[in-house]
Order: sequence, then C-alpha cells, then structure tokens
Amino acid sequence: MNWKRAIGLDNLSEEYAFARGESTGYTSAKKIPDHWVPTTCGYCSVGCGIEIGVKDGRAIASRPFELHPVNRGKLCPKGLSEHYTIHAENRAKYPMLRKGGKLVRVGWNEALDVMVERFRATQAKYGAESLGVLSTGQLVTEEFYTLGKLVQLGFGTNNYDGNTTLCMASAVSGYKISFGSDGPPGAYEDLERADVILLIGANLADNHPILCQYLEANRNKTLIVADPRVSKTAMMADIHLPVKPRSDLALLNGIAHILIRYSLVDREYIDKHTAGFADLERFLDAYTPERVAEITGISQETIFKTALLYGRAKAGFIGWTMGVNHSTLGTATVNAICNLALLTGHIGRAGASPFSITGQCNAMGTREAGFTSSLPGYRKFDNAADRAELAAIWGVNESRLPAKRGWAYPDIVEAAVAKKIRALWIIATNPLVSYPNQDVLRHGLSNLDFLVVQDGYHPTPTTELADLVLPAAIWGEKEGTYTNSERRVSKVNKAVQPVGEARSDFDIFLAVAEKLGCRDELYPGWTTVEDAFNEWRGVSKGRLCDYSGISYGLLAERGAVQWPLTEGADPNATSRLYSDGEFQTPDGRAKLVCTDWVPFPEQPTPGYPFVLNTGRTVEHWHTRTKTREVPILERLSPRAWLEMNPRDAKQLGLRSHDSVDVVSRRGRVRGVELRLTEITAPGQVFMPFHFAETNVNEVTQDAFDPISREPNYKQCAVRVERPGANV
Ligand code: SF4
Repeated sequence: MNWKRAIGLDNLSEEYAFARGESTGYTSAKKIPDHWVPTTCGYCSVGCGIEIGVKDGRAIASRPFELHPVNRGKLCPKGLSEHYTIHAENRAKYPMLRKGGKLVRVGWNEALDVMVERFRATQAKYGAESLGVLSTGQLVTEEFYTLGKLVQLGFGTNNYDGNTTLCMASAVSGYKISFGSDGPPGAYEDLERADVILLIGANLADNHPILCQYLEANRNKTLIVADPRVSKTAMMADIHLPVKPRSDLALLNGIAHILIRYSLVDREYIDKHTAGFADLERFLDAYTPERVAEITGISQETIFKTALLYGRAKAGFIGWTMGVNHSTLGTATVNAICNLALLTGHIGRAGASPFSITGQCNAMGTREAGFTSSLPGYRKFDNAADRAELAAIWGVNESRLPAKRGWAYPDIVEAAVAKKIRALWIIATNPLVSYPNQDVLRHGLSNLDFLVVQDGYHPTPTTELADLVLPAAIWGEKEGTYTNSERRVSKVNKAVQPVGEARSDFDIFLAVAEKLGCRDELYPGWTTVEDAFNEWRGVSKGRLCDYSGISYGLLAERGAVQWPLTEGADPNATSRLYSDGEFQTPDGRAKLVCTDWVPFPEQPTPGYPFVLNTGRTVEHWHTRTKTREVPILERLSPRAWLEMNPRDAKQLGLRSHDSVDVVSRRGRVRGVELRLTEITAPGQVFMPFHFAETNVNEVTQDAFDPISREPNYKQCAVRVERPGANV
C-alpha cells in the first residue's frame, strides 16, 4: 500500500473510475474496450457468434455478435465470460523440456529439434506405427487439415485420433452405416419448425444452452425428452420418458414396431429411398410394447403415445447427444434413430431430421478434414477411387495414403500399455481427466519413451507427465474456422497476441514440418491459415461437405454459412442434406439397420448396487482447464457433487452435503459432496465429469462401442460410502 493510501489521501479513483460504453452504458472504465473483434465461441458446438472486447492489447470483455445467424444476440454464461480464459494464470507460456526429471524452460528451436529427433529415433527403432497422435475437437479446421497431412504424409503413421472419439464417434459411425456418410442432415431452424421433437440423452439446457431459444420460439411443438434423469431439459418437456439406463435402443425399436404395425410409416419413401425394410419388419417383431415396457420402465401407453405423435407428425425431429453416444451400443442406437426418420420420411425437410448435436466447438471440423476415421472430405480409407483422387490433388504417390484407418483413441492407449506405441503427441486435450478408467491410461503413458503435450494451459494433469510441453495459442489468439453442429462454417479471429512465447497450432505444425524436411512438399508456399483453407476448399469440392463456395471474404461479410456451398450457390438458403432422397451409399438408398438391444456391460450387484451416470453442468467445460480460471463460473460451481435419490440415502444413513466416496471395481473417488434430489431415480447416482480433484473417471469403465470405439461413460456399477469405510 502506498503512503497516500495509508493516510487516506488516495481513494483509488483510477481503479474505480466510471465511463459510458457504447454497448454497456455507464460502467467501470476498465471494462470499456478500445475495440471489438468478431469471432466464434470456442467452447461448444452450438457455434455462437461472439465479439471480444480488447483494451490495451488485452481481452477484457465478451458480448454476443448481434449479426451472427446462430445465437441472435444471446450467449450462455460460458460465452459471456470467455475472455477470462485468455489471460488465465495457468496459461502455457514457454516450451518446457524434461531435464533431470524436471520440466525446464527451453527455446522453440531446441524443443522442436528434440521432438523431431525423438520421434524419428522411436520410429526408426520400433517402426513408423509406434508414433501415435491424440488430438482434439478444439483446433480450427485449417489446423486439423494441416496436422493430418503432417501425421500421415510427414511422419507416415496412421495411428492418429482425437478426443472426439470420446464424444461423438458413434454419431459418425451411425450416420455412415445408415446414410453412407457422416454429416448431420438438419439445421437448428428445424427445432423451430418441427411439430414433434424427441430429444434422447440430450440435456440441451446444460450442454447446449443457446439451442433452448430455438425450442422456446416453437410454440406449436410437442417436446418429448427421454432421459433417466429429470434433467433441466426434461423439465421443459411435454412428455418426459424416464427410461431405465441405456434402454433407449429398445425404446426406439419399440416405437418402430408400433409405427409399422399401425401403418404410420411412409411406404412411398421407404420403397423409393431405403433398403432393408423386409428384414427390419421381421426383426422388430420381437420388440412388442409389452417387452419394451419391461426393458425401459416406460408404460405401454406412453410408448404408444410417443410413437403415434412421431408417426403422425408433419415434421418430426430427433436430436441426441452423449446419452446415446457414450455407450457400447452407441452406433446401434444412432442407426435405430435413423431408422425412425427413414420409416416416416422425417428427413431432408424443414423440421424433419435425425440430428446429432455434437460436443466441442469444432468437432465437426475434424470430422470433415478427416485423417482419423476417414480421409479428408469424408473420403473412405478403403475406397481406392477416393485415395487416388486425393493423391492426385496432393500430387503424391497413392501408396503414401493409408488404405485403412489406424488405431482409434482407446486402441492407441491399449497399444501404449502393450508397448506398441512408444512415442505420443497429445494436442489440446487432457486425458488424465477425461479418459475412462484412469488406471489403464496411467499405465499406458508410463510405458512411453517420449510424450509431447501441446496445449494452451500448463500445468494440467496431462502436461505434468510430459517430456516436452509446447505452449499453444488459444481462442482469441489465432485465426481460422469452426463448423458447428448444423454444418455452419464460422470465422474465428485473432483479437490479441498469444501470451508469452505461445504459437498457434498451425505455426507449430509448419515448424515441425520444417524440421522434418517436408514443409515445401506438403505445404507449398503456405504462410497463413488462409492458405490451408484454400487448399481445403479444393479438397472438399464435389464432396458432400463442399466448401468450394466459401471464402474468408464471404465469412467476413456474413459471420457464418452452411456447407455444402458449391461455387456460385446462394449462401442465404438453409441447407439440409438428403432433400432429394439420394444417399451416399453405392445404390443411393439409405440402409434400414437391425440393431438389437442388450443390457449394459456392468450391471449393479449387492457389492456395487448403484448405476453411475456422468455428465456436464452449464458452468463448466470438459476438464475445467479453462473454466476453473473464470471467476464467475468457478464460484457458481466450485466442486463436484454426487446426486442421489433421498430414498437411497435414507437406507444408507446419509444426509445432504455429507462427504462420500464413490467406489467401483476399478477405483475410488474420494470426498464428493452428496446432493439428495428426486432428479435422479432410486438405484442411480449422477456425477459431473469436469473435476480433476474428484475425477469420476477413476471409477468409469473402459468398455467401448465395437464400431465407433466410443467409451461407455454413462453406466457403471458403484457403491457409495462414507470416507474411510472398507478401505
Ligand atoms: S451455447 Fe455453446 S457456443 Fe453458445 S455461448 Fe454457450 S458455450 Fe458458447
């Protein structure tokens, strides 16, 4: 404290000065920016337009980008406080290399030399496939495209996947099987235009809050929500279906059974545009209302009502998120959703869509730019014509393109456990919080010869284990594009300089390519992300995700436009896929898929009597690396909790706010605050997954969907006890 302050002469007038801001009115002078930079939210896949307020080179405010077509002048709490993530205390500012057991600051040159040398040495010793890469859904599309080329053509490994496999791989696999390609067919506008909306395992109010305004604007809808919890979204519903955990597939098959039995299907659409109806009809015989009621816990009357509402709708919309995807039956359940849309012709029209609402801000971009479960532009690894076309565009020998996908995320972890993956590059993800069954992951990482973690933040539980930490620029510090859940490509802009010596992921990839000696071949003449975007436009041309009509200029004018947008097409029109009934399968017909229900893998037992469900809360984002640094969000939700029904708590002699341990066969989460609530049904408990300190993934299961490889995060058997009991 200065002496003037000490004797009362300094009243901190500068600190507490007020002024009038153009959009804020009379407020603290510190909060009035010099200028605003339009961009797109870097959290979830809704893809809201945001403006970042900049003062003296620092991001000091966030406000809705009024002209943006998605959010129409609104933001959720995370968006409204997003600027705090940039200047957070825990930003990674310098490259750090482990020397003598400790991470010490080094220059970029040394960091990249060591990285490339260690990766090359590992590949020389154990084979090209011994290098794995785990990326994210949070880079810009241009960076995904650049990284994919670097990994597969530069390093020559196809063991590359992203944390997107942990959230929406089942939607991708399901779409591919049913429609022949990934790509959500609908648009957000459909939420306003459908007369029946069925949300399955989708708690929009917490996870995609701005989409609730589309629901609210639709006054003529019947909203049906299938969710084991009475989530905030279930509270908005006309009909809540409190399905037993992971019985949604049986429910969908039961609805399809009723639609067929009572002739509520669109025979003309089925005959013209689908294949497999006769098989499906026979298969669904087993899904009688009696049996489905027993499996799901929903009354036959309610199942009938739901089926009749959807079958008779003029435009029926089915939306889903992680309640469906986070399951060993995720892909099968997506196919069952697509079946309903195809049987009724609720697809490709205004209001009518089977619509996967995805997770991260640019999970869609990584799906389009590919290299993980498909080649760029939704091309298939196992399609020789696709590989030849791509090789010709790039001017490389076709043999350099892998003919099959590499290991998916969980298989990379298993391969590390088996010492087949010996070096790993983790980019913008934090598996030491987010991966199921942490024990297995820790084992895999401890086996590695060299671990590089490239992230905007340090320390995180994952960067702390790294041999090399590369500091990356984050949202607000770099440029590019994101694609949201409705295939809308939105511009991301740089508002401030990266902190410390952090570099954009794009610049890091080019610098690695330089060291590797492949920069000129893979990225001829590239200096900016727009160079990557322009090549990507050409690669996407003629594909379902056609960007050829999109340019940075167009995005600057409009903020965002939907793909497909072919050259010269009208960017104003809302686009829907499959409006002509032509699908991306060899015969142009969508597939009706027979998908049988089976119980989830780990059923409760007397020793582990509860089914644990996991999910999100509106205040936080994924592993809380960012949001714990945002004061208002952290104060609103500072710690994890466990929801339990009061009847179960009474039996266990537990009371609200007790500290409890959650225990499964794999581990224990200690000291979780108990919340007693009827939101969660007896026999079930719920816990958010954001908190590293009380990490629910110590107890979740490493069981995966056999097709998509997505984890079954949503159900595992646990017991709840007071700390210290039976330890
Ligand atoms: S709804 Fe999603 S995209 Fe929109 S402001 Fe919130 S976090 Fe950002």
